[in-house]
Formats: sequence, structure tokens, C-alpha cells
Amino acid sequence: MNGLRLVLAAFAALTLIGCGQARQDTYEQQLMAFGTLVDISLYGVEPQQARQAVEAVDALFQQQHHDWHAWQRGELDSLNQAIAAGRSQQVDASIVHLIELGQRFERLSHGLFNPAIGHLLKLWGFQQDAPGHSPPDPAAVRRWVQAAPSTLQLHIDGGRVSSSNRAVKLDFGGFAKGYSVDTAVRLLEQRGIHNLIVNAGGDLCLRGRHGERPWRIGIRSADGAGVLASMDLEGAHCVFTSGDYERYFEYRGKRYTHILDPRSGYPAAGVHSVTVVTSDAALGDAALADAAATALFVAGVPDWQRIARAMSVDDILLVGTDGITYVTDALRPLVHFEQPPAHLESVRLDAQLAP
Ligand code: ADP
Ligand code: MG
Repeated sequence: MNGLRLVLAAFAALTLIGCGQARQDTYEQQLMAFGTLVDISLYGVEPQQARQAVEAVDALFQQQHHDWHAWQRGELDSLNQAIAAGRSQQVDASIVHLIELGQRFERLSHGLFNPAIGHLLKLWGFQQDAPGHSPPDPAAVRRWVQAAPSTLQLHIDGGRVSSSNRAVKLDFGGFAKGYSVDTAVRLLEQRGIHNLIVNAGGDLCLRGRHGERPWRIGIRSADGAGVLASMDLEGAHCVFTSGDYERYFEYRGKRYTHILDPRSGYPAAGVHSVTVVTSDAALGDAALADAAATALFVAGVPDWQRIARAMSVDDILLVGTDGITYVTDALRPLVHFEQPPAHLESVRLDAQLAP
């Protein structure tokens, strides 16, 4: 499936990159970044201003992709090597910022979101372009769990980073896309553009509206192939989905997905997909939505409500492997399902006190 996606992406990139389209006051252009297609829609902007703005976003994305890549050579890779060798390392301000955000998300999610999980992802074969084929040696997984790496073991002194635990290996895959989308939105706003969507492969932020009407956006379906529901949104929102169809391998009839539970060292199970909508979050809308979607995926059906309250996210749609689609009361009125789910359960998140 990944192979197919790559081929499609390459085809679309060849045909569309470089030819921005202006249609009914909407300027649309597609970029290739972070291994995914990014659609940028700008409303009511002169084509030349729009083109220059999109070029600036493209340059920003390419730089970030290089700097933050978890297993190709770059800033993050050399920091990870230094940590493994017990050395401290001077890093760029954007990496410091990502580490600090990662620490906040780890704390808020009670450790279910853990960007120090790189070695475990590698063990499972998810730090390579095509995922692995079979589960790793259980003893190696156990050793990782016992070593208990955490971003909270990182010490930042100015721009120098060190770790008290050499088992820490940073991987920002759970929220870097969100953080990038946040930076892209900020860049567009700084250029005076206030009606926009930045959509990175179905994960998106929007601002303003589409002329006289709100923006209409889709939520990906749990199999990743189609649209589960649509929403009409205006103002400032981000919509991020984590799904078990993104990156996975199958072994002896069982699916192993790329979102891992740091408590067990095994892929999280029990959720097909979880969508989080944020609105004007202080931490950065998209980074929070991205991290929360991953954290709630790990939390699973029994625990997602507690973690949602802890992370202060209210608008959630979660499709469980139990056949139930859960939607929070706050989000329910905004969601128009393409096909009404067989079992839809409304959840009042504020029904219990936050821990
Ligand atoms: P997608 O939108 O592609 O489903 P996610 O936002 O859910 O992606 O992030 C999945 C990525 O997050 C993984 O590929 C890995 O890099 C990283 N990751 C996996 N498990 C965790 C975890 N428990 N905490 C933080 N990051 C994780
Ligand atoms: Mg995420």
C-alpha cells in the first residue's frame, strides 16, 4: 500500500508541482514534503503574491525535512548519535523548540506520547522507508522497556543538549508534521494571508473562511481510502488523524502498526483511527492536535477520554476496533457522516473530573 501511495504521490508531484491554479478566487497549489503531498489553498489572494508565499512555505518544509529527519543524516541524527555516545551536542533553535514541545506532550499524555521512542521504532522496522516484515526479538523489546527512555531525561543548557539516559533516541514523527503546518500557517499569516488551508495528506489547519461560506473539509475514513465525514469550519482550526492504515506490516494474519505503546514496547491496538480537532490552542494548534491523535491512539478505547482531558483536547472522533465510533459531544454537531456509522456513541468528556 505504501508503494502504491508513493507512486501516486510521485505522479501527482510531476503533474502538479509548479503549476498553481487560480479558481474562483481560490489559489491552489500542491507541494511534496515529508513524503506526503501538501495542498495549499488560499482565498482572495493575488496569484503572484500567492505563488511567492507558497514558494516560501516550500523552502521552509524542505529545510525542516532535512533538519528533523529521524534516520537520515542531519541535525537530529547527529544529536541522537551524541546522546548514544554520552556526549552533549549544540543544536539549532528549532530542535530545542521541538524537544521542549515533545517534553510538554509527554508530560501531558502521562508518557503515552514519547518522542524518545526512536530505538524502539527502529527495532520494529519503522525507521526505514519500507516497514519491516516481522516482530523483533521479545527480549530486545523488554530491554527497551526496562531502559525506559524519556524526553524528560534530556537536559537543555542554552543550545546544548545532553541526556542522562543513553537509550534516548529522538523521533519527532508523532508531531513534526503538525509543528510544520503550524509554522507554514504562521508564515502565510505574516504575509497578510488570512483565509487559507494547509493540508498535509489529510492532516490540516485552516484559517478564516472561503469567501461567503466556511471551508468544507473531510475526515479520512478508518481504512485510509475514503472520507468518513465532512465538517464546515471557519476561524482557526486544525484537524489531525492517526490511523492504523498509515504505516504497518502484517505478520501471521495480525497487523502491526507504527504507533507504539511505550509501556509494553508493542504496537498499540484497539483503535482504527482517531481524529482530533483543535481551535486556537496556545501550544500551537497543529502540533497539539498531531501529538494528541497519536497519544489517544496509544491510550485506546478504555483510556482515551482520560488522556484527552489531560491534554485539554475536546473535539475527538475515534473509530475503535470494537466496531464503535465514538464522538465527543462538543464535536458531534459539526460532523456530517458520509454513511451513518452502525454504532455511534456520543461521549461527554467533562462528565468526570480531570485527574
Ligand atoms: P500518521 O499521521 O502518519 O498516522 P502519527 O501522527 O500518528 O502519524 O505519528 C506516528 C509516528 O509517531 C510514528 O511513525 C513514529 O514516528 C511516532 N511514534 C510512534 N509511537 C509513538 C509514541 N508512543 N509517542 C510518540 N511518537 C510515536
Ligand atoms: Mg501524530
